[in-house]
Amino acid sequence: MPAVRSVLVIGAGAAGTATAIRLAEAGVSVDLVEAKPDVSALGSGITLQGNALRVLEQLGVWEQVEAEGYGYDTLGLRAPDPAGTLIVELTEDRTGGPDLPATMGMYRPTLARILADRASDAGAKLRFGLTATGLEQDADGVTVSFADGSTGRYDVVVGADGIGSWTRAQIGIETRPEPVGMGIWRAFTARPDSVTRTDLVYGGPSYIAGYCPTSEDSLYAYIVEPAQDRTGLTPEEGLTVMRELSEGYHGPWDEIRAHLTVPDRVNHTHFESHVVDGAWNRGRVVIIGDAAHSCPPTLAQGAAQALEDAVVLAELLTTHDTLDHVWPALTDRRLPRAKAVVEASLQLCRWLLDHEQGDVPGLMGRIAALVSEPA
Ligand SMILES: Cc1cc2nc3c(=O)[nH]c(=O)nc-3n(C[C@H](O)[C@H](O)[C@H](O)COP(=O)(O)OP(=O)(O)OC[C@H]3O[C@@H](n4cnc5c(N)ncnc54)[C@H](O)[C@@H]3O)c2cc1C
Repeated sequence: MPAVRSVLVIGAGAAGTATAIRLAEAGVSVDLVEAKPDVSALGSGITLQGNALRVLEQLGVWEQVEAEGYGYDTLGLRAPDPAGTLIVELTEDRTGGPDLPATMGMYRPTLARILADRASDAGAKLRFGLTATGLEQDADGVTVSFADGSTGRYDVVVGADGIGSWTRAQIGIETRPEPVGMGIWRAFTARPDSVTRTDLVYGGPSYIAGYCPTSEDSLYAYIVEPAQDRTGLTPEEGLTVMRELSEGYHGPWDEIRAHLTVPDRVNHTHFESHVVDGAWNRGRVVIIGDAAHSCPPTLAQGAAQALEDAVVLAELLTTHDTLDHVWPALTDRRLPRAKAVVEASLQLCRWLLDHEQGDVPGLMGRIAALVSEPA
């Protein structure tokens, strides 16, 4: 008999929806609560590496992801010079297996909708615009109270509630994300024909400038700068800052800049990072995804690691007959890998912050080899 019959998942990001899909498919009764009112809120793009695509295939959504995203197998490194000179075109490892592209760009809300619909179809009960407000656990289960006054009783609660995790604080895990010293401007806009894969420029006026096609007619572009307070800027001022920063970059950037015209399509955030370096559960409550570990997106592995956490946790919960065996197995399977990815992502930031010439392709190759092994 599986270790659980009923599970509450808190948070409908990649980690939460993937957990809900796998558990519901295995016959577990799943409630999924999400604080946001729906999945359609405006967002930017996301880069999904092959190991994320392998999980999406396991979740039964690959065909939809393939139809709505933009896949490719190479990575360009360009110079911060007036021509945006292509220095090298690297063939990326197909870390998800030979039948999946090395990388795929997608519009985040599209991915969120595909996963939420799949969770619902699998039998999970999704409730949007709802937060958990209290957790009380005893030897037999967890009683949860919700903001609408309702309560529920579950065998296990999964906190997949992101980097600022409420669940993590509730169960007394004190690890908190730390600033990395960098901020990122991102814009979602039209794809010029010249953009058919990710190109990165290291250096120039900012630390990194890059872009990723997200569909036939869209892309997201980003510029990583030293951390600074950008909170007081209006959307129009934010757009102006991003356009000005982009003027240090050329080649396809010249066409992208011409499309940077819609203030609401530009956003700014800071890089933060943490790893809960030990068990991710306290009793019957466990955290996964960004709640347990977060990395700056320099290797675009955050969502991939969140998805891997989800399928491993669901597998353990449905194949072990006691929770006592689940938790150490989760730590063994997930902590070393997630920690290695966080460390490597931070290393890339450190090289940039210290203006040090690190072996970027070597580091990327090492992580690609690691994540090529199924989680
Ligand atoms: C600038 C930036 C760029 C990135 N780019 C990439 C990339 O290209 N590729 C990549 O793989 N990763 C990227 N990442 C990382 C990636 O976004 C995360 O690792 C991933 O989204 C984590 O998924 P998650 O499900 O754990 O958390 P989230 O996606 O954060 O989902 C958590 C969900 O929980 C909900 N929630 C929070 N609190 C509560 C509550 N109390 N009750 C109910 N619901 C709650 C939130 O509304 C949210 O929907 C990037 C991160 C940043 C900051």
